Order: sequence, then structure tokens, then C-alpha cells
Amino acid sequence: MSPSGETVIEVEGLRMRYGANDVLRGVTFRAHQGEVLAMLGPNGAGKTTTIEILEGFRMRSAGHVSVLGQDPAHGDENWRSRIGIVLQSWRDHGKWRVRELLAHLGTYYAGHSTERVTRPWDAAELIALVGLGEHADKQIRMLSGGQRRRLDVAIGMVGRPELLFLDEPTAGFDPEARHEFHDLILGLAAAGDTTIMLTTHDLAEADKLADRIVILNHGRIVADGTAAELAEQIVGEDEVRWTLDGQRYVRSVKDSTGFVRGLFEEHGTA
Ligand code: ADP
Repeated sequence: MSPSGETVIEVEGLRMRYGANDVLRGVTFRAHQGEVLAMLGPNGAGKTTTIEILEGFRMRSAGHVSVLGQDPAHGDENWRSRIGIVLQSWRDHGKWRVRELLAHLGTYYAGHSTERVTRPWDAAELIALVGLGEHADKQIRMLSGGQRRRLDVAIGMVGRPELLFLDEPTAGFDPEARHEFHDLILGLAAAGDTTIMLTTHDLAEADKLADRIVILNHGRIVADGTAAELAEQIVGEDEVRWTLDGQRYVRSVKDSTGFVRGLFEEHGTA
């Protein structure tokens, strides 16, 4: 993890409205090259909407967004080749073997002429990187949930992206699979200058993985900083107070709806 300072994601005053529903209400944050950025927030906060706008899958209602120097709403093929995303559609290829799928995708990337000289991952190298060595010849449908998420990451990484998006990568994991997945992300972060943006509703996960955490609640950023910095902050219109000191997570929620209270786990005592 060695953020270089160059801005990779720049979001300012981002708004998104679905009908009468204001889902993002002026979201502002940045991510820098080599950083792991965690967007933390309860279900319904707007995390997936944000990430899909940054990936260029959704058109925003208003605001400024720049990802790798381009507006994702107008991202061209070269821009797309620099970004790693995780789609679920490959799950339809359940009969394919892990090695086959990754080799196929590698060939696809290599065959795409973009301005960028891309050397896709060799399937065997990538399989080793994400720790699927023992499962390379298994059919995808035979993989466990945790192994599938590793394959998700491998698929996102296949074109050697500069920026990798992961939406709730550990949702539904048991503690062991979660732990292993965290090691994978930390390994990727340490291995190079790939910038990673992930979303999560698990405070401990954000704390463990991220160089920078932005907390999204009801479509607004209520905190933005390193875990250490957030320990000092009392934040936001919802009067959510966070203390993150690496081991102890305390929160106090004065939200009258109890929305956050119901969705964040308590760790330690106040
Ligand atoms: P999160 O990822 O934090 O759980 P989402 O971005 O998925 O949050 O959703 C935020 C809000 O936007 C939710 O209230 C959800 O119902 C709404 N929403 C998401 N997608 C759509 C859509 N296509 N049309 C209408 N409302 C949507």
C-alpha cells in the first residue's frame, strides 16, 4: 500500500435520483493511486449506485465524476480496459473450468487493441495469485462461495487494471473465507500500484483493508479519512460518532429511525 498521490477517482457533488427517491445527495470524495478505498455504509446507503456510476454503468443525475482522468459516462474502450470490474454474468458458465475461463478472458484482452499495451495475466499466474491453485481444474459450479469470490477478483484483474472495483466482495462469507479474502486483497495492494475501491457494511473489514475509509449514510458522506483519523471525528448530520482505534469500535447513533443502529455490528464497548 503506497499511495502515490495521483488522483484516480474524483467525485464532487454527485447526485442520483430514482424517481422521487434521492439516493445520492451530494457525494464528494477522492481516491489516489495505489490506495485501497473502502466505502462503508449500511444497506441502502447508495454504495452500489455510486460504484456503478464510477464504472460507467449508470448515468448520474448531477455532479462531477472523473475516473482515471475521464468522465465514466463517456468512457471509451481504452478507458474501460484500464478498469477491473466484477460482473456476475460469468456464473452462467458453470460448466467451464477455472483455468479455461481465465485463459479465455486473457485471450480476449490480448486480442483487444487499445492505446494501452496490455499484457494480460497468464491464467496459471493469476490462479496462483488469488489462491485457486488447487481448484484450477474444477468446474465453476463446483466452487464454494469463497472460491467464487476469489474467481471474481481474478476475473476483475485479468487485464491488469489500474483500478479495481469490488462491490461487497465478502457478503455472505464465513469468518475463515473472509479472513482469506482479506489476505488476498492485502496481498494485491502490497504487490503493485493497483488502486482498489470496495464497498462494505462491515466496519472491521474497512478498517483492516483500507488506507482510506469514506462512510456513506443516506446518500451522504458522513466521514472521510484514514482509520486513525476517523477515531478523532464526530461526524455528520445523522450524528453518528465513530471511534476506530484498530481494536475497539464504538458507535453512538442518534438517528431517530435507528437505521444505522440496525445495520452496523457493535465491536467492543464504549
Ligand atoms: P447499497 O449498495 O448501499 O445497499 P444501493 O445503491 O443498492 O445501496 O441502493 C440505494 C437506494 O437506491 C435504495 O433505496 C435502492 O432501493 C435504490 N435503488 C437502487 N437501484 C435502483 C433502481 N434501479 N431504481 C430505483 N431505485 C433504486
